[in-house]
Amino acid sequence: MEDCIFCKIIKGEIPSDKVYEDDEILAFKDINPAAPIHILLIPKKHISSLADLKDGDEKIIGKIYTIINKIAKEQGFIENGYRVIVNCGKDGGQEVMHLHFHLLAGRQFGEKII
Ligand code: AMP
Ligand code: ZN
Repeated sequence: MEDCIFCKIIKGEIPSDKVYEDDEILAFKDINPAAPIHILLIPKKHISSLADLKDGDEKIIGKIYTIINKIAKEQGFIENGYRVIVNCGKDGGQEVMHLHFHLLAGRQFGEKII
């Protein structure tokens, strides 16, 4: 995906502050943090949004959640808790069309939507 900024981050064409990386997943700090800890987790394979998941993608989605817990343990906020958000499509407020999971921590989130 040539014009995708997150694919460019994966390729190293745009710098990022990496938190975790393996052959399938990259986690890096959000450039405009909404909390003291705001990390984005993305599959290295370009998937545009949750709406574009295909058969077989559930493996990578499950793995992203285990990496979230690994980061939460390493960074010491597993006890206090955290929030994970995925925006999908226009009504979901998605701006970057490469599937990403927002991992937010370090403060209490009072804004309860559900
Ligand atoms: P969303 O609105 O769910 O699509 O979220 C996109 C997120 O990507 C926003 O929180 C942005 O701050 C973040 N973002 C955009 N460009 C970059 C970048 N170059 N490095 C890190 N985070 C970015
Ligand atoms: Zn991409």
